[in-house]
Amino acid sequence: MINLIDLQKHLEVQGAPAYRWRQFLDYYFSWDLKAWPNVDALQTWPKTLKNDLPALHNVTEIKYLESADQRSAKAIIKYGDDDKWGETVLMRYHNYDTICLSSQLGCPLNCKFCATGQGGFIRNLTAEEIIEQFQAWLIYLNQNGKADSIKNLVFMGMGEPFLNWSEVKRAIEYLHDNYGIGHRHITISTAGLPDKIKEFSDLDWPVNLAISLHAGSDAVRQKIMPIANTYNLNQLWDSINYYFGKHRRKLFLEYILIEHLNDSVGEMRLVVERIKKSERKLLHVNMIPYNPHSAADFQSSSAEQLRRLEALLKDEKIHYTWRDSLGQEIGGACGQLSKNS
Ligand code: SF4
Repeated sequence: MINLIDLQKHLEVQGAPAYRWRQFLDYYFSWDLKAWPNVDALQTWPKTLKNDLPALHNVTEIKYLESADQRSAKAIIKYGDDDKWGETVLMRYHNYDTICLSSQLGCPLNCKFCATGQGGFIRNLTAEEIIEQFQAWLIYLNQNGKADSIKNLVFMGMGEPFLNWSEVKRAIEYLHDNYGIGHRHITISTAGLPDKIKEFSDLDWPVNLAISLHAGSDAVRQKIMPIANTYNLNQLWDSINYYFGKHRRKLFLEYILIEHLNDSVGEMRLVVERIKKSERKLLHVNMIPYNPHSAADFQSSSAEQLRRLEALLKDEKIHYTWRDSLGQEIGGACGQLSKNS
């Protein structure tokens, strides 16, 4: 399995001149990627150097699924020889694309509304495997459109990014340095680990943060997010306010709306009260109608209930957006990623 740090050391040990590493980076982080491996790319290298290289890509197979309206696609990626599949989603907007990346294969946090959580945890992904998700879309877009339409990256796929933080950070830095993806165009979405949110807040890094809130009370949150049994909402909001002590940037609160579970006006009013006591101008609620899937027995809220919740947010002048639910039919919508899809 390729590790870029080890590879750089390997070239040094081989006595390769420094420009060979630069050549390698040009190859590895090519925008023109049309397929793996790109065998011609390193043809100027001496044979001895090429012979000693480890396998340069972990991906052994990619399957692409496209939605009928062509507004989203899902890539199912096989890593190595064994039965380990990751997933990443491309969301196509009017004049740009957003890529949703996975940080783990499966997820240990077991959120009840999430197909990934219901499928259990397999392992963390390496930074290189995360980069390969991005590159899977370069291959796709180079064959189907323009790869330079990629504008945003969101870590909202399989896994909890803060539980694989060192590899996620490393992947972000490589994607930033080599593909020029701006930190401000990258979002980490967490189930809400207060210590990790504080650690993230201490970084001088303009990467965006989104927190899966999904409830106004501990009792409701505990029903749908087991992590809420470890960290209560006071701890979570304390970490949110710590973040605002360090950054004057927008922070996103994700709220999946599940019928008769967390979609009452009373529950949303508790969220509103917390927001009013925090930085209301910097907090932005992403309202996400639940995407039904076979791994959970929940239903979407009725249109009437969604209107009631919207009226509350409007009355209280809370910033909110209805999140587009792209990719439902291909199992690529929020909470639907599953290794078995
Ligand atoms: S919602 Fe996120 S944190 Fe929760 S189980 Fe799914 S992938 Fe894990």
